Amino acid sequence: MIGGTLKKNIKNYDLEKLKEELKLIGEKPFRAEQIFKWIYQDKVESFEEMTNLSLDLRKKLQDIYSLGIFKIMRKFESVDGTKKYLFDVQDGQGNLIESVLMKYHHGYTICVSSQIGCKMGCTFCASTGIPFSRNLEPGEITEQLLAIERDSKVKISNIVFMGIGEPLDNFDNVMESIKILNNPKGLNIGARHISISTSGIVPKIYELADKQMQCTLSVSLHSSNNKIRSSMMPINNVYPIEELMKACKYYIEKTNKRISFEYALAKDNNDNLKDAKELAKLLHGMLVHINLIPINKIEGGKYTKSTNENIIRFRDYLNDCGIVTTIRRELGTDISAACGQLRRQNMEG
Ligand code: SAH
Repeated sequence: MIGGTLKKNIKNYDLEKLKEELKLIGEKPFRAEQIFKWIYQDKVESFEEMTNLSLDLRKKLQDIYSLGIFKIMRKFESVDGTKKYLFDVQDGQGNLIESVLMKYHHGYTICVSSQIGCKMGCTFCASTGIPFSRNLEPGEITEQLLAIERDSKVKISNIVFMGIGEPLDNFDNVMESIKILNNPKGLNIGARHISISTSGIVPKIYELADKQMQCTLSVSLHSSNNKIRSSMMPINNVYPIEELMKACKYYIEKTNKRISFEYALAKDNNDNLKDAKELAKLLHGMLVHINLIPINKIEGGKYTKSTNENIIRFRDYLNDCGIVTTIRRELGTDISAACGQLRRQNMEG
């Protein structure tokens, strides 16, 4: 519930909690399974459509709960098929968020936002321009997927927490949303198809490791040098590279899973061979994958994209060192839907 005046969002509950909720209103637990199916498999937009529930129960649900349905404010479509959605989350506060649908050869991936605004202040990211307003609730995370599936008529198979916000700064709600997404009686999206990207909230990386989640962890590194990283990501002043790497090593050891490091290449900033050498030294012997992102220039931003020559040289050097390194395919740049371009603006095209 947001603001105390709205109804409770029924999408905030995983199946077990929904059973508890229903018990409180004198209903049998199997009703929860029926409702869960209506929401996540049939993707209904109202309680009236849940036709195997009695009229009385439908009315009761409607009085107590909302289905947290978003309103599509704008939709942009890229020449490469990527779609960016601007949603009004309907919380009575006029809050807007963006989500992106991308088509890959293996299926559809959605890039979801985890917060309204972001506190991290990364100097190269457009989301930094959005003042932080609040965390998204679990039901608001899953609704991004449901709203896009309803509108686009596609089945989304992969989720990346790479939209607006820092997912590990909204840890409990993100974990809850993953539980809901995972449920075989609902969307049935396996944790292996979900990636969480973090700017490096060290204590939460330890917590994630201890949870033994099967999700992929991406860490936004962008430099192996504290001075450069701090100038790009203020969070580095709180959790410097040494501490971050310690947490990453713990995560790998505990989960036996590879970490994916994101590295946005900006011209004359972090794209020299010297930087690649430092990076190779830092990650030496670790179970990792490096994802190079040619940095996307943001309005008023000081960073510009590296040259293709530098990007390829950077990649080849790391691969030669035995560190699996790929260059991320750029999708949706023409509609400001690419990495770091999400702003929650309904003004710009
Ligand atoms: N807060 C999380 C997730 C959101 S950002 C995080 O920091 O990881 C998702 C990814 O896009 C991160 O790797 C981020 O560093 C990257 N990114 C942000 N702005 C970018 C830009 N202008 N160009 C390229 N990548 C960018």
